[in-house]
Amino acid sequence: MPKKTMMLCKPCADKLGANATVRVVRKEANMKITCRMCNRRRYGAEYEVGGKEEKGGVDDDGGE
Ligand SMILES: [Zn+2]
Repeated sequence: MPKKTMMLCKPCADKLGANATVRVVRKEANMKITCRMCNRRRYGAEYEVGGKEEKGGVDDDGGE
């Protein structure tokens, strides 16, 4: 899955992190962003969001 970067506030980044790989790519003190998830102007950072990292090659797509 291609990774993309987006501006997110902390709560939304945490929420996304439950289902995807979220890592900070740019963060500054008191950085104001418009969150892509909740569309609010808040303190946040630029994040790189990708698919959930696979662990041990467990492929759960329905099998037989
Ligand atoms: Zn948000």
